[in-house]
Amino acid sequence: LPTVAIVGRPNVGKSTLFNRLVGKKLALVDDRPGVTRDRREGDVGFGGLAFRIIDTAGLEEADSESLLGRMRLQTEAAILEADVVLFVIDARVGVLPADRPFAEMVRRAGCPVILIANKAEGGAGMAGAYEAFSLGLGDPIPFSAEHGEGLGELHSALQEALPEADEDADGEGADKALKVAIVGRPNAGKSTLINRMIGQDRLLVGPEAGITRDSISLDWEWRGRRIRLHDTAGMRRRARIDDKLEKLAVSDGLRAVRFAEVVVVLLDATIPFEKQDLTIIDLVESEGRAVVIGLNKWDLVADQPGLLKELREDCTRLLPQVRGVAVVPLSGLAGEGIDKLMQAVVAASEVWSRRVSTSRINDWLSDALSRNPPPAVAGRRIKIRYATQVKTRPPHFALFGNQLNALPKSYTRYLVNALRESFDLPGTPIRLSLRTSE
Ligand code: GDP
Repeated sequence: LPTVAIVGRPNVGKSTLFNRLVGKKLALVDDRPGVTRDRREGDVGFGGLAFRIIDTAGLEEADSESLLGRMRLQTEAAILEADVVLFVIDARVGVLPADRPFAEMVRRAGCPVILIANKAEGGAGMAGAYEAFSLGLGDPIPFSAEHGEGLGELHSALQEALPEADEDADGEGADKALKVAIVGRPNAGKSTLINRMIGQDRLLVGPEAGITRDSISLDWEWRGRRIRLHDTAGMRRRARIDDKLEKLAVSDGLRAVRFAEVVVVLLDATIPFEKQDLTIIDLVESEGRAVVIGLNKWDLVADQPGLLKELREDCTRLLPQVRGVAVVPLSGLAGEGIDKLMQAVVAASEVWSRRVSTSRINDWLSDALSRNPPPAVAGRRIKIRYATQVKTRPPHFALFGNQLNALPKSYTRYLVNALRESFDLPGTPIRLSLRTSE
């Protein structure tokens, strides 16, 4: 489900809005210390729209001196996860200085924002609603969470702002085609492999009218699973005609990578790990796709066990950013190893989509921190308080705490590697965001 976060300073009516949308009072979902304690979440069905909603209002009851700091962390966490933010102000009191830091966070995050001027029942608080323009978050919706006014306008705004259902990452159905691209240097054997996978059908089907050559995708089924293959082969032919092979190979590769969930980087096993191969893998990593490495032309290799061992070591050394990536020997020409390749592709897509629960991550975090505490920088202790997985596809984690901007690269690398190990996330890019409250 897409995620909507309710954000705003204390007392603007976030809880009331939350309860209005969720339709019942929910208990706090987590009793762990730290940020999650204060969070409420619920699933909302709202006139045909379905989303998960996060509320930061639990904090308002926590009357501690660290309230604002925690509130800020909490809000950052919610915004990071959100596809859409509902930013709430109190229309009756107008815009207060306390609203501004929250508005600033929302603006920085750059995700769609719906501005709600709450407590405006019966036309009250119009002046406050006008003031709300000054926040730079767009037109406010006059609203009353308590009386249920403004719901129609909120519904249309949400309808516009929420991602399309079929683009929604987490709600992926089992029957949805898995999008796979096969990329690699010219002559790595991409066309041969794709032809072998698809069989003769493809020759009969051909590019359909209305589909440009650049965006040919081929639907295929592997063991009852729908696979949509991006056909880079068609483009290669065009590239030959244009005689700008190198340049096109790169931009075609980029298009294929963006199309795909899992990218098979096909190497020619007789000349593996050329510079261009590494460039392609970097591209796949920076686009955040799951990776599988295919060692094609395996039929031409004399010492197969020896070479496989060597190439796996090369991978560990050359590709730390996708550590543990599957390396599958195959021959497109002989049709060997394709099953193994596809098993690795499906496994990679599962890893890429994996969600780890917040409680497991925080158990892991306290363990990782005690085993190897973060260094003190300029005499000040860096404090990591809490971690959560904010997105999948690829796995994206966030750390919350103090002085995190001072964390050395080596330490964040340690954490990423430990996350990869502990939660079994081989071969996928892993993203880590740092949210620091000081
Ligand atoms: P592409 O540029 O990556 O699409 O590469 P092609 O599929 O056109 O293949 C380039 C050359 O490698 C052709 O001569 C193929 O016959 C050959 N080739 C492709 N796969 C294999 C393989 O598994 N084994 C062997 N021996 N040759 C292959």
